[in-house]
Amino acid sequence: MRWPGILEYFADYLPLTKKTPLITLHEGNTPLIPSSRLRQKVGVKGLFFKFEGMNPTGSFKDRGMVVAIAKAKEDGKEIVMCASTGNTSASAAAYARKAGLNCVVLIPQGKIALGKLSQALMHGAQVLAVQGNFDQALEVVRFITSHYPVALVNSLNPYRLEGQKTASFEVVEWLGGVPDFLALPVGNAGNITAYWKGFKELYTRKKITSLPKMLGFQAAGACPLVLGKPVANPQTVATAIRIGNPASWQGAIAAKEESQGLIEAVTDEEILQAQKILAEEEGIFVEPASAASVAGVLKKAREAFFRGMETVVCVLTGHGLKDPDIAMKQCEGSIEEVAPSVEEVVKILGL
Ligand SMILES: *Cc1c(COP(=O)(O)O)cnc(C)c1O
Repeated sequence: MRWPGILEYFADYLPLTKKTPLITLHEGNTPLIPSSRLRQKVGVKGLFFKFEGMNPTGSFKDRGMVVAIAKAKEDGKEIVMCASTGNTSASAAAYARKAGLNCVVLIPQGKIALGKLSQALMHGAQVLAVQGNFDQALEVVRFITSHYPVALVNSLNPYRLEGQKTASFEVVEWLGGVPDFLALPVGNAGNITAYWKGFKELYTRKKITSLPKMLGFQAAGACPLVLGKPVANPQTVATAIRIGNPASWQGAIAAKEESQGLIEAVTDEEILQAQKILAEEEGIFVEPASAASVAGVLKKAREAFFRGMETVVCVLTGHGLKDPDIAMKQCEGSIEEVAPSVEEVVKILGL
């Protein structure tokens, strides 16, 4: 079957009307990859990676963006706007072009990964670098979009979460059931809110008979939901979750409490380690923020949290090529120079 994209495939679950343009870059339908080696290390029956980096712009943001942009187009808007740590702007820029809309993005100056910035620019978005952090950029966007004819496409826009919840449908469909645990990184907390909404909808429609426990992981330097209060100056190598005052705060807490899950912190060191382990042991290259889910599951495994019979799905939110600078730093000193000679190469390889 040709995959038709989110709007068409999940139409029954989305707030579409006859007038909604069914735009698509064929987002969604991302692979659920069974773990080869980490499963034993974690000590569970099943460990799967939902690789959202395989979406058209390289992150899960495409799922929600396609709905938000389609609805903006339906409403006759001509400009869309967002604040972004990077992936939202890349996705907004691409889908805005697909729908023939203009896109304005506000990014925190100097804190955007190279891959993401290049995407927004290539798609012709107007990029404004705010001399401040994400939370400040979002405040500006909220004001402008509520006072001018400009559509807000941050995850405060409920259509974003409607689209993002479809990832939970795919997890259930491809797994053939409900995982015991769903682990994911938490930044602005839209995604954990959306997954939980998706699972609950399936439950209400009697498509599933149990619900997973949600395991959210924040970076230790940007973990307001763990601390129970906003962080004024969030710091982490994982720029996609460098957020001090999550917009979907209530949704995240509800997901945690209703599912009897948890939201905990992982250090930058644990995040970078997990990123390297995923690349080396599983052949999956993700950006640092995405590795927070795996870092968290590895941490819980060390704490003997799992009993052994569970199935765990780790959401890998974005592709590793988004942030080549961090990846190269992780691999410093691993390229050897050699003369263009068979003898020299054979010598180095020890063949
Ligand atoms: C946006 C993003 C996150 C955080 O998701 P929230 O919905 O803001 O919690 C995590 N990882 C990546 C790669 C992202 O782009």
